[in-house]
Formats: sequence, structure tokens, C-alpha cells
Amino acid sequence: MKTLDQFDIAGRSALVTGGASGIGLAYVETMAEAGASVTLADIDIEGAEREADRLRSEGYDVRTAACDVADLAQVAAAFDGHVDAYGGCDIAFANAGWDAGNGFWTPDGKRNPEGQIDVYDPQRWYRSIAVNLTGVFHTVREAARVMKRNEEAIGRRGGSIICTSSNAAEVNEAIVGVPYMPAKAGVKHFMRHAAYELAAYGIRVNAIAPGPFVTNIGGGWLKKNPAARQAWDELVPVGRVAETYQIKPLALLLASDASSYMTGSHVMIDGGMQLGPVKPL
Ligand code: NAD
Repeated sequence: MKTLDQFDIAGRSALVTGGASGIGLAYVETMAEAGASVTLADIDIEGAEREADRLRSEGYDVRTAACDVADLAQVAAAFDGHVDAYGGCDIAFANAGWDAGNGFWTPDGKRNPEGQIDVYDPQRWYRSIAVNLTGVFHTVREAARVMKRNEEAIGRRGGSIICTSSNAAEVNEAIVGVPYMPAKAGVKHFMRHAAYELAAYGIRVNAIAPGPFVTNIGGGWLKKNPAARQAWDELVPVGRVAETYQIKPLALLLASDASSYMTGSHVMIDGGMQLGPVKPL
């Protein structure tokens, strides 16, 4: 098979959680630009409608679903709506994520008194695990349920599931709230088990592990705080934090048959951050 033909996802369908902003929105755009039909699922339904309207005005097939990934019933309903619209689901991004805040460090490099373990707000911990880890379980669970029926429903066997992990699954990134690191490490290991179990059904499961991307996460501090952004540019071995368009080719690789022999991979896209910061914070 020719190389570029393996990237062809035209006529397939994809569901993206957390698709209204940042990295998830880049995934939605990637799928739409490559000719797939997309469900943009997000807890922020206004943002979801706004971005879907914009993409529809550009001629793309994008629908929305209101969905809190911490709630299994809402995730199941988002997939059921997708199947009603498109017959099955070829591609699912378990992407929605949230920083509970109160990191050990503030964005400008000061010790945060509320970020220390002995005073850390347990409600932030519970919600972070519910969204960042349990939300991925819910999404992979429902994607697997639907994808196991794909051959009968749409004549294509299996599918591709892509989880958004983080470099924080590998290294301690103390700028985000403390539950974020164990949640993302859990995403990495759950993804590996899901890949092992679902391989027999033709369902591949991989994870994208971004380093620092300029998005709205953590209140959008990388967008709003130029001094913090410059400090982070200087920490990354390639010399800059990333823009979301830079994740699109990797998303297409993992979503398409171009990655047909990849499953259980935790793919870093971090400008070399896992190699260690260029200088300490
Ligand atoms: P973002 O805040 O720009 O986008 C997150 C999206 O998820 C938003 O649209 C938000 O409404 C949605 N969301 C939040 N909680 C949700 C929930 N419970 N249910 C459904 N949707 C929900 O942030 P982002 O940086 O694009 O984050 C996307 C993913 O990338 C997350 O999993 C995040 O942990 C991961 N990530 C981001 C970075 C980074 O530097 N930006 C680095 C590593 C990993």
C-alpha cells in the first residue's frame, strides 16, 4: 500500500472528548480536515457549539454532544448519539482533561502554600482523578463497546482509540496540581492494558503525551502570562512551548491505518522535556 493512502480517513467517523478547546479542538480539526465526520463532545456545550458552527461554516461535518466524562451515562449517551448519526465509530479520542490547580509552584516560580500535600484540598484530588483518569476509562469503555460492533454495523472491523496523556505521566511536573501526575500515569498504564485486551478485536489503543502546549488548561496561564511563557520557552530543549497545530500530524498518524502496527504506545511530543529541563525553574 502506498504511504499517503495509509493516512486516508475520509468517510470514517471520530468522537473527541474535550474537543471545544486546545489540543482536543486540534484533534477535531485534524479529523474534519482529513474528511472524517466528527462528534465534538465537551462539558462546555457553548464552546462546543461555537467551534462546531465555525467548522460547519467551512464545510465540515461536525456535530456536538454535551458530556462530562466523569459521568459514565453521559459518555455512553455521547457514543450512542454518534452511532445514531454515523452507524458506528472508527476513531475515539479520550482527551478531556483538567488541571485542579494549586500546583506546588505558581506559574512565576514561587512556592504555592496551598499546593503542598499536607494542606491540599481533597475535593480537587477527587475531581481531578474523576475527570483525568476515570473519564478516560469511561471513554475507552464506551468506545470499545461501539467498536466491537463496527464490522456488523459499518463493514469496517475495529477502530483506533487515542488517549491524551502527558509528559507528567513520566516526570514530576509540579506546576500543575498534585493529582494530575498520578492521574496521567494511570492513563498511561490503563491505556496499555486496554491495548492488550482489545487487540484481538482489531481495536488499537495508543496515547499521545504532550509536553507544554499553549491552551486554556490551568486557566490559560501560558497564554495570559508572557513572563511565565518566556521562562517555559527557556526550559524546553527545543527552545519553545508548542502550539496546538503541532499535534495534528501525530493525531492523524494514530487515528489512521498509517499506525496499523502501533498499539499500546505512549508517544511523547514534548520538545524534549522528558530529557530534563535545560535549566532548573
Ligand atoms: P483546554 O483546557 O484548552 O481544553 C480542555 C477541554 O476539555 C475544554 O474544552 C474543556 O471544556 C474540556 N473538559 C474539561 N473537563 C471536562 C469534562 N469533565 N468532560 C468533558 N470535557 C471536559 O486544555 P488542553 O491543554 O487542550 O487539554 C487537553 C488534554 O491535553 C488534557 O487531557 C490535558 O491534560 C492534556 N495535556 C495538555 C498539556 C498542555 O500543556 N496544554 C500537556 C499535557 C497534556
